[in-house]
Amino acid sequence: MPQSSQRWPSYTATIERIVAHAADIRSLFLRLPDEVRFHFSPGQFISLSLPLAGQNVTRPYTLASSPDQPGPLEIVLNLVPGGLGSAYLFGRAVGEELTFTGPFGLFTLERRPDCEAIFVAERTAIAPIRPMIKRALTAPAGATMRLLYGAEHEAELIYQAEFRALATAHPEFQFAPLLPRQGESLSGFLLKEVRERYVEGDQRRDRQFYLCGVGSGVLEMRQLLRDNGYPRQQIHYEKW
Ligand SMILES: Cc1cc2nc3c(=O)[nH]c(=O)nc-3n(C[C@H](O)[C@H](O)[C@H](O)COP(=O)(O)OP(=O)(O)OC[C@H]3O[C@@H](n4cnc5c(N)ncnc54)[C@H](O)[C@@H]3O)c2cc1C
Repeated sequence: MPQSSQRWPSYTATIERIVAHAADIRSLFLRLPDEVRFHFSPGQFISLSLPLAGQNVTRPYTLASSPDQPGPLEIVLNLVPGGLGSAYLFGRAVGEELTFTGPFGLFTLERRPDCEAIFVAERTAIAPIRPMIKRALTAPAGATMRLLYGAEHEAELIYQAEFRALATAHPEFQFAPLLPRQGESLSGFLLKEVRERYVEGDQRRDRQFYLCGVGSGVLEMRQLLRDNGYPRQQIHYEKW
């Protein structure tokens, strides 16, 4: 049951399933008790309370599952070298419990059906984009939606089969998996792709962007788009 004595209700869920996508990327599927109702919008995150180094520390994790489909909540995370929170979560087993508050976050879908939508994500930062794309595809087909999804290694492009199937079923959705050349940085590579396609490629500035990634790459991409004529309200982003 949610504990509502605090400012935000707190939920306790059981880890129902763990899926390893790659050696250092996994999904945890979190099952809430049947009587608990938990509503969220595609793109929102939960704040997990983790017992680290003798105290409760919070870490945000985005819900990679879709609120439009029944089933457990899914978070997907990568093991961060030296990171306490991700190491703790990688040490968890099926049947254990996790406590969280939420949902939080304003990185959510504000789809304009007349406007091409470009989603850009790297590795696990696909988490908020995945339910957004699914939600957008429930609306009547509008302008094109394209996902540029990058990772250093093929195995880190998770949910690929699902995105390919969505692209086959929905002609308005295009999926571009992207792997940089050896030695090229992933964020630099994605920035170059966006520049070539949407800054230098044409004069159109009516696209919407949804960008998510780790570190300053997302901010550089946002700045590139703003500096080249895209209105700021058309650029939605979240930096981890
Ligand atoms: C709104 C929001 C949503 C998030 N959702 C997710 C999610 O769905 N999945 C997920 O894996 N992480 C997500 N994160 C990052 C997550 O909260 C933790 O920061 C991450 O797991 C590292 O925590 P840590 O305690 O292991 O390492 P820390 O010691 O807290 O972090 C070490 C460093 O790792 C960087 N970092 C953060 N995330 C990553 C990452 N994924 N890969 C590599 N380096 C990273 C941080 O910037 C920091 O500099 C999200 C962050 C934010 C702000």
